[in-house]
Order: sequence, then C-alpha cells, then structure tokens
Amino acid sequence: MQGIKFADSLSRLGTESAFVVLARAQALAAEGEDIINLGIGQPDFTTPEHIVEAAIKALRDGHHGYTPANGIPALREAVAADLHRRHVVEVNPDNVVVVPGGKPTMFFAVLMFGQPGAEIMYPNPGFPIYESVINFSGAKAVPIALEEKNGFAFSAESILAKITDRTRLIILNSPANPTGGVTPKAEIDRLVAGLAEHPHVAVMSDEIYSNMLYGGRGHVSLLQYPEIRDRLIMLDGWSKTYAMTGWRLGYAVWPDSCVAHVTRLCINDHSCVNAAAQYAGIAALEGPQDEARAMVTEFDARRQVIVRGLNNLPGVTCTDAAGAFYAFPNISGTGMSAQQAQDKFLDEAGVATVAGTSFGAWGEGYVRFSYANSTENIEEALRRISSLLQG
Ligand code: PLP
Repeated sequence: MQGIKFADSLSRLGTESAFVVLARAQALAAEGEDIINLGIGQPDFTTPEHIVEAAIKALRDGHHGYTPANGIPALREAVAADLHRRHVVEVNPDNVVVVPGGKPTMFFAVLMFGQPGAEIMYPNPGFPIYESVINFSGAKAVPIALEEKNGFAFSAESILAKITDRTRLIILNSPANPTGGVTPKAEIDRLVAGLAEHPHVAVMSDEIYSNMLYGGRGHVSLLQYPEIRDRLIMLDGWSKTYAMTGWRLGYAVWPDSCVAHVTRLCINDHSCVNAAAQYAGIAALEGPQDEARAMVTEFDARRQVIVRGLNNLPGVTCTDAAGAFYAFPNISGTGMSAQQAQDKFLDEAGVATVAGTSFGAWGEGYVRFSYANSTENIEEALRRISSLLQG
C-alpha cells in the first residue's frame, strides 16, 4: 500500500524518557495508584510572584507583538549583567541570543556543526537530547564516558584523545544531568589548554544548573576562559534557577562568528520568544534573588536525605551528588538492570524514577532519582523501595 513517506532523518531522532515516565506515572495515578514522582527534572516550586507579575504587567502594557529575533535588548543586557555578577566575565549583549528554553540552543548548535562525516562529542550518561539531535543531524555521536570513579566528571585527557580532523563540536555539561556530577576546575583547565592544539573544534557548555551547587562549591563557567571565547557557546536559562520550565525561556552566549547564523535559525524556527516571558526574564534577573536561593537551600537538605537513604538500601551505593537536583545511585548490587529497576520501582513501589540507560549506554547499572519533590515524599519513596528490595 502506498502511503506518506517520511524523511530518513526522522528515524534517527530520539526522545527524553523522563516525559514517557511522567506520562506513565500520571496514567497510574489516574487509575488511583499512589505514585511518588522522582522521575521528572523540574523544580516542584512555583515561579516567584514578582516574576509572574512582570509578565502580567507586560501583557497589560501592550507587549503583544513580535520582538527582535535574538531577544529584547533590555533582556540581553540583563543577561550580560547577571553573567558579570555571577561569573565575573564581560559579555557583550549582542552575543546573547534568547530562545524558548534550554533545548533550542543545543538543537541549533548541533544543526550548525553536524552533518554526515562530522563528529560531535557528548556526555554519556548525559541529557538524552544531545545524542538524539546529533544522530538527527547525520553527524557521528562520539560519547564522552562519565564514570562514577571520577565523580561523573569528564576526563580532559580522554576527550582530547578522541578529537579527530572530523570533530566539529564538543558538548559539556556541569553540573550534570543525570548524575549531579560537577567537573573540577583543574580538569576544565586541562581541557581548555589541550584545545589550543585543535582550533577547528567548537565547544557548547550547557550550564543550565550553574546555580545549583552544594557543599560550598562555586561554579566554573567556560566563559571564564578567554582563549576559547571565539568558539564557545554557553547555554543557560531560567527553567531551573527560577522554576520556570513551562515558560520556555533560555539563552546562550554565542561567539561573534555564530551570531548571524543562530539568529537566522531563530527567524526560521520561532521568530522570537513570546514577549511576556522575556519581560518576566528581566524581572527574574534584576529582582530579589532570595526565593531562588531558598530553593537551592531546600534542594541541598533533600539531597542529603536522599543520598544517605539510597546508601542505606541493600545493593545500592550513591556518590555525593554535588550539583543539579539528581542523585544517580549504582544499583548493580541489586541484580537488576537499570530498566528492570525503573519498572519495578514504579510498578511495585509506586515510585517513578528514570533508568540510567535513558541517558545513554554508559548509564547501565544506575537509576536517576530527581529530588525535586518534598522531603516527606522522598522519605516515603525510600521506605517503599527499601521494603521492595528487602522483600
Ligand atoms: N540542559 C540540561 C542538562 C537539562 O537537564 C535540561 C532539562 O532538563 C535542559 C538543558 C533543558 O532545559 P529547558 O527545559 O529550558 O529546555
């Protein structure tokens, strides 16, 4: 039978399993099951009130039309000032491009550098969209293995050893999803020094969790390395820091050579981010930071509960998750695969988690627990899994 014929590239596009788990958990909850969701990667807080008010005011003030494709100037200036405050770096607002969330920057960066014959390196286990869009572009996806013994930090030496003439882009992510790993400054120093030998390689540093660090750690931004600023794309946004995942607001700092290309991708794709969200973004950066800070303090308290609790489970060990809001325990001592553990935790304990393999092949033997849920629910989830594993 003749039917519509899809492009081959569509079969190479992956997905983000956290959304599949979320749908399954919601379906079970709708059937009356008592489900604790530790699967989804979004803060369980609401957006601070003054940010919501700024969006409402923008709409009332008549900001209903298109904005410049790269974002309204006042927002790009606020981003540059925020980056100066947090990372002590100079950023020209003309290099800031505002997009609908964190994801579009990674898609555009990969579209800009990926094609058949090219190689793009990405963290594995890592945010699943990296590998998905690299495959979609036709480029070869080359994994950067992140190992528990290194605190899930990347090894500069192993990245540098894998660079070839075909390497176009290296994707980095610290603090990391799904591991909570944070790469130490010394390792970043070594990578940047080594990149001097490979001037044909661009870097995309996903720093969306840069505000979520624990145990007194400070964030090291790739923006702090002037020697690679002419080939660095630094991704950040509002989703995690200000509990704004549904607003769809993010940005990246792009090198001069990329700005016109990415702006054209924006014009082709979405024209601009909705105006009200952009005004909310200004209020977030320029307004009081106490709620954002309180959120991090709360995540830190929960992190300690979950890491300790996971380490008390039979067959489970968990490294200290230094950033983001994920714990990534090693469950290989339970005898289950990552997928079996995900299924059993949901079906038999009513706890939604995400199998490590959803983040790449190097995630086998691990399960991601998001602690963007109340301490009470986290403790109950740990109790349920404990009796499941002991039963
Ligand atoms: N980068 C990483 C590492 C993430 O974990 C996520 C979301 O989970 C994103 C980017 C995407 O963020 P956004 O929801 O703003 O598109």
